[in-house]
Amino acid sequence: MPQTVVRTSGLRKTYGAVDAVAGIDLEVKEGEVVAVLGPNGAGKTTTIEMLLGLRTPTSGVVEVFGADPLAVRHRVGAMLQDTDAPESLTVAEIVGLVGSYYPYRLPTPLVLERADLVAQARMRVTQLSGGQRARLSFGLAIVGDPDLLYLDEPTASLDVGARRGFWTQVSGLTDLGKTILFSTHNLAEADAVAERIVVIARGRVIHDGTPQQIKALVAGRTLRLTTD
Ligand code: ATP
Repeated sequence: MPQTVVRTSGLRKTYGAVDAVAGIDLEVKEGEVVAVLGPNGAGKTTTIEMLLGLRTPTSGVVEVFGADPLAVRHRVGAMLQDTDAPESLTVAEIVGLVGSYYPYRLPTPLVLERADLVAQARMRVTQLSGGQRARLSFGLAIVGDPDLLYLDEPTASLDVGARRGFWTQVSGLTDLGKTILFSTHNLAEADAVAERIVVIARGRVIHDGTPQQIKALVAGRTLRLTTD
């Protein structure tokens, strides 16, 4: 039986009168690739931030590898939205700098290979395309060789070709048996990448199933996604 890597029960985060996350029960097993699908404001980012231990739940339980998220952060990597890498350093220097914060880290050449950035090693961030920037963020998320990776809408600003290139690199990790939880508002992307889709709306899980099951609900109009 695969180990449970992520478990939440009744997870909730309230900001004043807003229930950003209104009671989420979630379970992710070792080696699974799970998409959290939902429109803007559904609570995807807040959920991921609580799984990371960056935000304290208003109520409910979060366990990662059976422990408090902060106790296991060395086993977890994250690619969050709107994080900028320093513009004055090269790609290889940034990977080296971020790696220096980890007790155990992958060698820079291996990170560049896994992010498909070998040819860009000496370039500065300002010289990179959108797809290359996204792959750099991915590379920085895997520098500590995490067992679990969170990707928060990692391809939101990318065109179709760059998206494909991005997910090709991520699939290298899934081949290694890593566990991946990513958020998206795109059903086609969730279908192409994930083996399970958790659909959330207004801070709640409204469906949890295989891509086939979710697509059948959409086709049968049982589920209406207010997403693209
Ligand atoms: P997006 O796709 O836009 O990133 P999301 O699904 O990630 O959306 P969240 O960012 O988690 O959604 O936001 C969920 C709800 O909580 C939204 O209504 C948002 O406005 C609200 N919210 C999030 N952070 C805060 C905050 N710090 N203070 C007040 N409200 C917040």
